[in-house]
Amino acid sequence: MSKLSVRWLFVLALLAALAAGGVWLAQRAAAPQVFDGERAYQHVRAQLKLGARPTGSPAGWATGDYIIQSLKAAGWQVQTQEFDYQGVRARNITGTVGKGPQVILGAHYDTRKRADQDPVSPDAPVMGANDGASGVAVLLELARTLDRRRLQNQIVLAFFDAEDNGGLDGWEWIVGSTYFAQHLETRPILVIIVDMIGDADQQIYWERNSSRQWNQRIWQIAASLGYENYLLAQYKYSMLDDHTPFLRQGISAVDMIDFDYPYWHTTADTADKVSPASLERVGRTLEVLVEQGIEP
Ligand SMILES: [Zn+2]
Repeated sequence: MSKLSVRWLFVLALLAALAAGGVWLAQRAAAPQVFDGERAYQHVRAQLKLGARPTGSPAGWATGDYIIQSLKAAGWQVQTQEFDYQGVRARNITGTVGKGPQVILGAHYDTRKRADQDPVSPDAPVMGANDGASGVAVLLELARTLDRRRLQNQIVLAFFDAEDNGGLDGWEWIVGSTYFAQHLETRPILVIIVDMIGDADQQIYWERNSSRQWNQRIWQIAASLGYENYLLAQYKYSMLDDHTPFLRQGISAVDMIDFDYPYWHTTADTADKVSPASLERVGRTLEVLVEQGIEP
């Protein structure tokens, strides 16, 4: 073997190593991300760090900014929709990816301005770890983990403002989602709301006004993942929630909500009541559903 061919062999070996490395990197990039309850829980903590987050408050606005930054970092197309209600500036936020029949996954990000169910401090604000932050956390972790190449739908992650001051100072419930549903540019084929789904003591039942076929499909997926003791395929509560404005327009909609939550609208709705495992059950169920593809 000549000196020259030794040198060529070295070059070839180097090229082969680089190619193998490239394949390895490509596989790593292609490996689908899986919804991680711990990462979702970090989004709960980040929101609570901002304090109570009622519509129009500085902390509420900062929460919106946090959502926008998180969506952009995950490569989603962000849009905002501002409007005034009772002299307060409110803001809905969406992140969008993909093409095809549109599916909206929604949550409210505002917190109730007074803990009127609290026996001791009914005038204190609600921290909203479960009622507000948990739904947002699930959507933001989905923004990171949904496998874009498998999507057969346009997916919109919708973060509604002004859901949770109903009955206080003349405010109505579900103000942000109502405004949103009245200004749709595209009619979605399905809307799924996640609200109060992070309770460490989790029982999510079928909500009575939700579209039955989608209740069945979502809860079947949950059971296939081993969550049948947490997502219970039977009716319990009837809720007015962010799915309602879409149902009123004849759009299929589901409310995933765990209304067995003793800390609802009290000062005890804090991060210790929410668990990563509960966030993960809801997140993985929705991840499977969306990646399967949704037909009208
Ligand atoms: Zn509430």
